[in-house]
Amino acid sequence: MKIKIIISLILFLNSCYTYSNTINIPEEDKVTNISSNLLIYEDSTSLLSINDILNKPFKKHKQIVPNLGVSNSTFWIQMTIKNLSKLKHFILELSLPSLDYIEFYFPDSTDKYSVIEAGENLPFISRKYQDPNYLFDINIPQHETKVFYLKIISTEGIQLPIKIGPQNAIFNQIKNRDILSGLYFGIMLVMIFYNLFVFLAVKDKSYIYYVVYIILILLTQTSLQGYPFQYLWPNYPIINQYSLFILPALVGIAGMAFMNVFLKVNFYNRSLFKLSFLFATLYLIPIILVFLRNFELSQKLLQINAGLVSLFMLGTSIYIIKKGYKPAKYFLIAWGIFLIGVIIFILKDFEILPFNNFTRYTMQIGSAIETVLLSFALANKINIIQAEKEELIMNQNVILEQKVDERTTELNKTLKNLKETQSQLVDAEKMSSLGQLTAGIAHEINNPINFVSSNIPPLKQDIDDLKTIIKKYEEINSSSNINEKLNEINTLKQELDYEFLKTELNTIINGIETGAKRTAEIVKGLKTFSRLDENDLTLANINEGIESTLTILKSTSFDVDLLLNLNPLPEIECFPGKLNQVFLNVINNAIQATKENTTRPGKGKVEVTTLSEAKTIKILISDNGYGMTEETKAKIFEPFFTTKKIGEGTGLGLSIVYRIIENHKGKIEVNSIINRGTTFTITLPIKQQNI
Ligand code: ADP
Ligand code: MG
Repeated sequence: MKIKIIISLILFLNSCYTYSNTINIPEEDKVTNISSNLLIYEDSTSLLSINDILNKPFKKHKQIVPNLGVSNSTFWIQMTIKNLSKLKHFILELSLPSLDYIEFYFPDSTDKYSVIEAGENLPFISRKYQDPNYLFDINIPQHETKVFYLKIISTEGIQLPIKIGPQNAIFNQIKNRDILSGLYFGIMLVMIFYNLFVFLAVKDKSYIYYVVYIILILLTQTSLQGYPFQYLWPNYPIINQYSLFILPALVGIAGMAFMNVFLKVNFYNRSLFKLSFLFATLYLIPIILVFLRNFELSQKLLQINAGLVSLFMLGTSIYIIKKGYKPAKYFLIAWGIFLIGVIIFILKDFEILPFNNFTRYTMQIGSAIETVLLSFALANKINIIQAEKEELIMNQNVILEQKVDERTTELNKTLKNLKETQSQLVDAEKMSSLGQLTAGIAHEINNPINFVSSNIPPLKQDIDDLKTIIKKYEEINSSSNINEKLNEINTLKQELDYEFLKTELNTIINGIETGAKRTAEIVKGLKTFSRLDENDLTLANINEGIESTLTILKSTSFDVDLLLNLNPLPEIECFPGKLNQVFLNVINNAIQATKENTTRPGKGKVEVTTLSEAKTIKILISDNGYGMTEETKAKIFEPFFTTKKIGEGTGLGLSIVYRIIENHKGKIEVNSIINRGTTFTITLPIKQQNI
């Protein structure tokens, strides 16, 4: 569709030229296109001078703008110009900056020719008019006709877009051209910086490839218009010799490199990726040829390779679109538009399409559109990457949530199991200490009961003796001899040692009393202690709890001095049975540590102190046992941590203690020095809140 329009446009432009040898400068102030009225002579020897060619047969041509192709010949152009306007001075503009060497011959009043040199091979500064195009002064008196000549030698393709007009009109056109070029330059520059910044921001290497690619396109396109020579290297004409050969090759290579990263060619098809390297290498041939000064062949190869590369890139992007990679669509559209421009430009070089303002600038327009579209494509790529990332994160979140769920149920199971095991273990620890205790208690009760029972036989004996004495007294009646009987009784008393009997009876009864009292005490202690499983919060006196605990502990045989330093305490809100277990466990540990401290010279000592404070009470349990190292200290509250032999310790005592105190919102602290002793400080609040 587009191509049709372009072709018909070109045909239309082709059909509207008329041919005449004499060029008229019209009356109005306007620029006249004179390309179609030129006469041309090709000097393939390149040896002829102005005088030699004056009589040569110049030929007409059939194009709007003559295209002489790439050639080693020297071309002579003859222009016969008749001045029909009121002015005398005009400007002739040859707008093909890439021409290497030009001589402009103009006649003076006696029709003798003078010459002005121009072309890319001369430093830019040598130009009278500082413009990329070649401008020459033309002076013709009114209504006269003069003949001018141009001699042209060039390694690049020679076309002859030539205009003539009053200086103002020519300069106006130049101004417009500069504005449009500036616009193009601006678009490209913005794209360069935009993509450079995007590269710095996202560090995706496609952008830097793209930046290089745009810079090369920009240099190539502006070189065609001659601006870099004017502004970048005005004193180095040599660069111009090569730039229009090397730059297009580099554009091709950079274009493929960009395509490779942008379309992930290597990922989608390795052979296409390798093929791009082959084309890149092929570009080296025209570059080498140019340095061997074979410009004609170089130009041809360059154009052929460019054509192949264009088709290759077109094919590759279609292939990758089919593979389902979305950014490839943008690439195809952008690249396609540029390609149309390039194809038109090349067709013009091959003289298939005429040289005109449209065919000349299609490449620029195409490249500007392409650059902008590709920037959009790159921006779209960011979106795609972003979307992919988000999807990835979403998926990961879902997976994570699932995992968390799984773990949570697992953990809950484990926790349940642990709780069961723990309560079993706590029961076990209770049982084990209960076992120890019952043995102790039996022993302890045995002592006072022994007191009682061992005193019973002497008591019986003493009572029997007393009974005998009392019987003698009973035998006294009115008939008997009182004095005789009293003597008998006194003898009996002496026999039975009545005085001793009285004291012994006292001793025995005291002994029995002590035994009975002690037993009662133990029973009371057991009662207090057995509040172990009480689950209601009650008011209790901790001193009593400690005493009952100690009563029970005393039953287990140990050889330790127990010091009690119990100060008056307020009753506190607590689970007394649970606290008794705390005291039992801690004091038991203290006794064990004291018993086994072999480094200490004196006797083992355990001291229990209670203190009352404003809102709390404190229980200090200290011993002069073996103490503990920092490492041990750090672990004592862990369940199953023990330093004791199997059977002696379960490692659960202090973990239970810790939990009970925690339940009471209390605190337990340890101070310990190895081989010197340990102090446990328990702090308990007087009032519990929200239990
Ligand atoms: P167990 O007594 O069964 O070993 P505990 O939890 O009661 O378990 O105590 C853990 C460890 O703490 C003991 O093995 C011991 O090493 C240390 N420990 C506890 N109390 C004392 C103390 N008063 N002196 C020295 N070490 C102690
Ligand atoms: Mg213990």
